[in-house]
Amino acid sequence: MDNPFLSQKIECPICKTINEFEMIRVGAFTEDGRDTDFCPLEIHWRVPRYQAYNPLAFFTATCTNCFYTRELTPKFKEWKKDNDFRTYRLKHVKEKHLEQLSTADSVIKRIGEAIDIHAAPNESAILKLLLAVFDESAAEHPSNLDLGRFYLRIGWLFRDLQKGENPQRLHLKGMMHELDAKYGMLSQVMDTIDSEVDVFRKFLKTHFETDQVSADIKSKMLNYRDRLDEGIDELVSSFEIDRNELLKIGDTVSDYRRQTLGDDDGSDGQSFGGAPSFEAFLAQLHSVWNDVAESEIAALQKAIFHYKKAFESGRDISAGPQQIQASYLIAELSRRTGDYDQARQFFTSTIKAGQDFIYKNRNDKSRTVLARKILELAIEQGRINLAAANAQG
Ligand SMILES: [Zn+2]
Repeated sequence: MDNPFLSQKIECPICKTINEFEMIRVGAFTEDGRDTDFCPLEIHWRVPRYQAYNPLAFFTATCTNCFYTRELTPKFKEWKKDNDFRTYRLKHVKEKHLEQLSTADSVIKRIGEAIDIHAAPNESAILKLLLAVFDESAAEHPSNLDLGRFYLRIGWLFRDLQKGENPQRLHLKGMMHELDAKYGMLSQVMDTIDSEVDVFRKFLKTHFETDQVSADIKSKMLNYRDRLDEGIDELVSSFEIDRNELLKIGDTVSDYRRQTLGDDDGSDGQSFGGAPSFEAFLAQLHSVWNDVAESEIAALQKAIFHYKKAFESGRDISAGPQQIQASYLIAELSRRTGDYDQARQFFTSTIKAGQDFIYKNRNDKSRTVLARKILELAIEQGRINLAAANAQG
């Protein structure tokens, strides 16, 4: 399997642009297990050159023209056949999305224009998810479950960013740095040749101007002056071509670097979307749009808010394992954000619901696989939560 992606042509429901989105094929990567909030631990792509990409960069699809963003699912691909979407959702989303699009410097435009999956995969994945949050929230009845899922993933991406730069990308940066240095030396040598040719030409001029020689020697000399001048002219003209080649190589090097690393000069604290850094960019967005999460904790808190709403309304979450999982996530995310009381409350109800479900389905073990796994996690994390709460006093 050389290409880990399946290309999907989808017409944008807002602006009608036909986009070609990359959907990750099943089995394109493997995971080294999951964290206690289900965040995949290490990702290993089967094709190593994709190692710099968090698969979440392809979780959503953003229209290249209007930045409308939605989770990339078969349901999205078939949106034209989705009557519920077309009749009830599209109108409101379209209105709010287009309103943003027609406003200069709107949040949607700023985010959309800053996205560059290849130059900044994690940051772009966060921004795409924020756009997905915007468009989901624009619906008349947004799905709190989906909003929770989006924010949870934004939290995971912040966590990934904090892990430091991807080693692959770090390696690439080092390689690019070396290439730049070598190119710099080459153009320096060319500059040196340039000035040495100049020195040589000036030297020849004064050399042949001498009148300290006899007339017949002088005529022999002048013959050589012309040949040497011609030679130099030829050298310079052929060198002129080389100079252009050198500049072209320089352009190719810059282009090559931009395509692989983005507008990144190899220094840290790089600017992002017109702001001094990604953090500063998010802070600017947050000042005009409160739904922007600026950190992992902020993202997890927003995830909790939406998971709780979904859990309480029961509208998007079916009874059984899905409900148990949602309740567990509320507990675990509360623990991670330091809300130990809420965590304890939800761990307790998760454990109770898990035990009930397992008991009721005691004759069908295959139905209870997930519930048993979550029950185990809830007991373990509930214990850690209690210890943390007690340590806090
Ligand atoms: Zn569009």
